[in-house]
Parts: sequence; structure tokens; C-alpha cells
Amino acid sequence: MGKVIGIDLGTTNSCVSVVENNEPVIIPASSGGTTTPSVVAFTRNGERLVGEAARRQAVTNTERTISSVKRHMGTKWSIRIDGTEYNPQTISAMILMQLKKDAEDFLGEPVTEAVITVPAYFNDIQRQATKDAGRIAGLEVKRIINEPTSAALSYGLDHGEPQKVMVYDLGGGTFDVSVIEIGEGVIEVLATAGNNHLGGDDFDQRIIDWMVKEFKAQQHVDLTGDFAAMQRLRDAAEQVKKELSATESSQILLPYLTQYKGTPLHLDMTLTRPKFEELIWDLIEKTAEPVKNALNDAGLAASELNRVLLVGGSTRIPAVQRKVRELTGKEPSKNINPDECVAKGAAILGSTLQGNALTAAGQELLLLDVTPMSFSIETVGGVATRVIERNTTLPIRYSQIFSTAAPYQRSVEINVLQGERTMARDNKSIGKFKLKGIKAAPAGVPQIEVTFDIDTNGILKVSAKDMDTGKEQSIVITADDRMSDAEIEQAIRDAQSYAGQDQIRRDAIELLDESRKLCNETELSLKNAGKTLDRAAKKQIKADSTRLQKLIGKCRLEKVTEAELAEIREAKQILQNSVDTLMRR
Ligand code: AMP
Repeated sequence: MGKVIGIDLGTTNSCVSVVENNEPVIIPASSGGTTTPSVVAFTRNGERLVGEAARRQAVTNTERTISSVKRHMGTKWSIRIDGTEYNPQTISAMILMQLKKDAEDFLGEPVTEAVITVPAYFNDIQRQATKDAGRIAGLEVKRIINEPTSAALSYGLDHGEPQKVMVYDLGGGTFDVSVIEIGEGVIEVLATAGNNHLGGDDFDQRIIDWMVKEFKAQQHVDLTGDFAAMQRLRDAAEQVKKELSATESSQILLPYLTQYKGTPLHLDMTLTRPKFEELIWDLIEKTAEPVKNALNDAGLAASELNRVLLVGGSTRIPAVQRKVRELTGKEPSKNINPDECVAKGAAILGSTLQGNALTAAGQELLLLDVTPMSFSIETVGGVATRVIERNTTLPIRYSQIFSTAAPYQRSVEINVLQGERTMARDNKSIGKFKLKGIKAAPAGVPQIEVTFDIDTNGILKVSAKDMDTGKEQSIVITADDRMSDAEIEQAIRDAQSYAGQDQIRRDAIELLDESRKLCNETELSLKNAGKTLDRAAKKQIKADSTRLQKLIGKCRLEKVTEAELAEIREAKQILQNSVDTLMRR
């Protein structure tokens, strides 16, 4: 049986872990380090880059580089590059394929199963999209687990005694807070809350806005229209932000950032920690409400918490830590690695799903998670009528009877909503279904039992039964934002063929490089040999070199085939043989 890997598919960075000898270990990224930047790029010569290589070239290839795709998960966002349309699932799948490959290299065996983490605040569509991304990458997603729960899982293993823990998770793009009870062999999520659009990227943006404003004041030049300059500002903003977690002030120096009427302009500014805190204070303040809501929903006072765990890179910011102290009255624990604990928890869950016991006492582990948002149905007057309350323990199955609003109505459209607001239009519509063939009757007479079924992944299925006829009706949720099965199958085929195509391109780049080098060296050797060479040998070598150069010139990386590569390889070998013979004379 292959191993189940645990994947933290982050907005900024991703991390993968696996359990070995009963301990979760982090799988090293192919570029070194323990995390892989969640960045994908398409180079102009048709190569696809993922991770560190993609991040490094982002400045010079802004329009063809995609970062923070997680922010678009479950939306209609897409990007068109070289005539191909990519959606968030297919881009995320490319990151997952890289992590899968790293895991396979590390373990020396194929990996086909994974547990993937998502922010607790991801809705049904975002969870489905994440699962679909896994499928496209060739992974069977055994479970989708909430990031804070996952962090607690990795923490819970180290600390056997029962306790109530708050996980404050502020990453690149999302904020999650969960209140979790860790008992003997049971990890129960009591409540969760958060903000899907709040994180380190927003802090970077505040620094960028500040730099743009300052630059305009100093140089009278607006940088916002300069793509490459803006990308450099983005990188610099993140860097200075990170530095300010450790120092009181930091210099930002960007030589030749842009030019004005032919004169190069440099950026040279200093950002102090107090100024940075002033820029982001209202954003940090936004984490207070979810913290209070989570405590309320869990029925706990902050003083009843045993511990507060910090997860996510942005919790390294001193002002964030101060805010956590102020909100909870506790000194946050710093003995877990905020970048790694989420992936480790997922690996632990993956291992327990295979039947391995991992708790300190060696017993099976029970994980009780909750639904982060309420589910409702739109009823008369556009009201959202609650069916399942937020923070209900999963899995859950709940049925409710609905009826018709108009006399002799033969069909009803049911709009399934996720969110906490009272009016339907203020919540997220995650699917609509039509129930047809209802027996003609006065309004309110037909009895239609609608059943909501939320599995342990937090994914919802809805079914309905006509109580009059006793017949089950099959209802398909048709969320516009979801990929259909056919689309996913196509994406899987594309991903597989891309994987093959990527390998051909990598081979081609290497072969073309070696071939060019050989042609150059040959030319030099011929020149140096001068008159010492016999003319026929010289002519042969020149002809072989010209043939190879022609093949190199003809080769287009974006369309290269195996047959073409074989021809180049052969021409290169012929030239190499001729040169070797010459050298031996
Ligand atoms: P995550 O999604 O957990 O990987 O968090 C990534 C976010 O954490 C990004 O916005 C990073 O810029 C931010 N981050 C990482 N290290 C630091 C640090 N030392 N200080 C401030 N922010 C950081």
C-alpha cells in the first residue's frame, strides 16, 4: 500500500509531509528548503515552471506568471496563455503535481493518495475545486481537512493531556481561527470563524501603495502603469515586511526602477516598524471579530483557553502577536513551526486513514470537524431559511419538508445558500436545483423532503423525495463555478500530456544547449587547426555541423516532438564522431 501524503496547498507557499516511523516528516522541495512557492509560470519558449523557478523569474515575466491562485479557487477566474485557457483548478493541479513528484522522489515509490488542507472558511465550491485540482494532478484526495484543525492535529500528538486550544492562522491570503478541544484520542473542533480575503498579501499591498505614493511625491512619476516596476515593488514589499518582523527599520533600494524621459530613476526609501504598523493596523484589527465569534460559538471565555497556537507566516509579525495577546490574554505558543505544522497534520490524518494509530497512547484517532458556515435555502421574499447552522459537527445529515408557494405549481426551484446573512442575495449561492413533476395541488399541500448531507470533507450533497408518491427524485446541484466531470476528465488528460510534453521540452532544452555548444567548439577547433587539417576531413566536419545547426534553427520548443529530438540527437552524434576522429589524428 502506497503512502498517503499530507499537502498544505497555501496561497503563497505549499508544503508536503508524510508519516515515517510514526512521525510526520517534511518532504524537501526540489529547489531546496521545506516549502514550494505556489507560483506557476509559462516561459516564452513554451516551458512550464512551478515553484521557486517560477517565482524567481516573475519580475521579468509578469503577464505569464501566476501567483496566489488560491484566492481565485471556486470562482470563474481564468487566464489565457498561448491560446490555452487555465482555471484555478488546473493551475493548482500544476503545483500539486510538483509536490507529488517531490514526494515520489523522496519516497522512491509512486504516490497516488493525499489529504489536502483548505482554510476553514472555504465554502463548498472552494472545497470541491480543491478536490478537483487533486484529481487533475493524479491524486485521489482521501480527505479535505481544515488548516487549523490540521495544525492542532500535529500539535495534539506532541501534547497528550486534554486541553482547549485556539489556532490563530494568518497566512498569505486567508485568516482562520478555530477553537479546538484536544482530548485523549479525540480532536474536536468546537468552532471556527475567519475571513477568506485577509492575509500577508494585503499587508504587501499596503506597502506597495505607500511606495507608489512616496515615489510620486519624490519623483512626480506614477509607477502603477509600469508592469515590471510594480512586480519589483511587490517583491520588495514582501521582503521589507519580513525584515520588519526582526528589525525596527528597513531600507528599500531599487536601482533603475523605471525611467522618465530617458532618465533612469531609482527608488531609495526606508520603512520603519511603527510606520508599517500604522499602514496595516486596521487589517490586523479585522481579525478581532472572528476571534470573538469563534469563542462565542464554542461557548468559551478567552480565559478558559489552555493555549493559543500561531499558524501561517504572517503571525511572525510582532504587531499580530501583540493583537493575539490582547485578544486572548495569553502568550501564544511558539514551539510549533507555523510553516510546517499544517502539512504535518494532514500527513498524520492520511496515515490514520490507512488504519495506523498515531496517538501517544497508541489508540485510534477520532477527528471531529465542523461546518464553517451555515447552509440555507431561499424561500418566499428572498429570505435565507437556515437548514444547517454553522459550527455543526460533521458529518451531518438533515432533512426538512418544503412545499409549494403557488397553487397548482408543478415544479420548484431550490436555491442552496452558504453564509450567515438573513437575505438570500447576501449569501453565496452554491447550487440550484429544480424539482419537477410535482402533483398539481393547492399551494402548501405537496410535501417535499429535502435532505442535506455534509460529509467529513465539508462537501454538501442534496437529495429530495416526493412524500406524496414516495419516489426519490435525483437532484443535481448545478453550481456554475464547478467543473463538470467531463471537464475534469479532459483536464486530467491535458495534465498527463503536459507532464509528458514538459519532459520532452526539458530534454529538448538540454539537447539544444549541448548541440549549440558542440557547434561552437567545432568551429573553434577548425579555426585553431588551420592548415594542419586535410581538406576532405574539414569539409565533412563543416557539413555535419551545418546539418546540426539547421536542425537546431528549425526546432520550436512549443511544438517539439520526440522524432525531431531523435533527429537532432543523431546529427549531434555524427558531428561528435567526426570531431573525435579529427582529434585523434
Ligand atoms: P503562508 O500562507 O502560511 O505560507 O504565509 C505566507 C505569508 O506569510 C506571506 O504573505 C509571507 O509574506 C508571510 N510571511 C512569511 N514570513 C514572514 C515574516 N517573517 N514576517 C512577516 N510575514 C511573513
